[in-house]
Amino acid sequence: LRSRLPQVGTTIFSVMSALAQQHGAVNLGQGFPDFDADPRLIDAVARAMRAGHNQYAPMPGVAALREALAGKIEQLHGRAYDPGREITITAGATQAVFTALLAFTQPGDEVIVLEPAFDSYAPGIALAGAHMVRVALDADFRPDFDAIAAAITPRTRLILTNTPHNPSGTIWSTQDLDRLHALLAPTDILLLSDEVYEHMVYDGRTHASAAGHPGLAERSVVISSFGKTYHVTGWKIGSVAAPAELTAEFRKVHQFNVFAVSSAVQQGLAEHLRDPAPYLDLPAFYQAKRERFRAGLAATPLRLRPCEGSYFQVVDYGGLRPELAALDEAAFAHWMTREIGVTAIPMSAFYADGRQRQQVRFCFAKREDTLDRALERLSRL
Ligand code: GLN
Repeated sequence: LRSRLPQVGTTIFSVMSALAQQHGAVNLGQGFPDFDADPRLIDAVARAMRAGHNQYAPMPGVAALREALAGKIEQLHGRAYDPGREITITAGATQAVFTALLAFTQPGDEVIVLEPAFDSYAPGIALAGAHMVRVALDADFRPDFDAIAAAITPRTRLILTNTPHNPSGTIWSTQDLDRLHALLAPTDILLLSDEVYEHMVYDGRTHASAAGHPGLAERSVVISSFGKTYHVTGWKIGSVAAPAELTAEFRKVHQFNVFAVSSAVQQGLAEHLRDPAPYLDLPAFYQAKRERFRAGLAATPLRLRPCEGSYFQVVDYGGLRPELAALDEAAFAHWMTREIGVTAIPMSAFYADGRQRQQVRFCFAKREDTLDRALERLSRL
């Protein structure tokens, strides 16, 4: 058998969740909440099912949901997407990224990815037959625009960005978007902007969306996630906003690899989305968890990296006793799961270079008692 992805094993998120389960560890690895969704949302979906929304949804998504989403984006970012021609509902953000890569790249095209990066990007690019050009974020996980400029060639078709950033928790400013725009303006390079953590920004910061940048929005495919925003990662539902010409190409692929997404879930979300409070409350909701978790970690020998957004916290374990500090990241994450009872994701999963930086990523989208239990265990480090 000739593998299409000879270097690829099982995604780290499945591996670490299985390991956490096996050892009864507190799972702060894979990013998902351990608390339930708003009962009003669940009721809205159940009502939609009882009302008979149980057959195929329209291929691009339920109209009411696309309209509600267009209204929300206009309200938050000032750009009016046409729900009919510019918004598509997808089976989660990972599918949206995959479909966009297939729709917009040809064999031989180059795709710029800023590293560290979410682990599905590279296989998506490989299966599209495109070539991934990795550009390192700097030591503080900030974009290095000179390095990005140097990576652009006549073959560059797409640049993939992610803010708030998984795994580092940094966010882009509007000035960052301006600088990216200055680089892309003279080219026909498209921007694939993964913004699934858009509502998790802290300390009064605001999310700078490509959708809200007049220059960039024209060339951008902006990806969002209902799963992340409404604590329903298991529903696998996301969305794509892009100018009509790009959306038309996106849908050519979407219609044949997914066709449409759960109709009742879309109906329920359309109703729920009318109330802005749930997403407007998210920064404060997650900031409180971030504070609690960081305060507890500060009492351990782990060194904290800043967290401006997302629900991830990166720590450096180089200050632990020498035999632990010497472990590579995967070995350390395994050891911590087994011996301490807390699971994290090795940062090496987000890089292709195999370099060891003595860093792991925790997810703090957890109940307070879960975070406290993890912190109590981590105090033994
Ligand atoms: N986005 C989540 C994370 O980074 C996991 C998604 C997945 O497991 N595919 O942890």
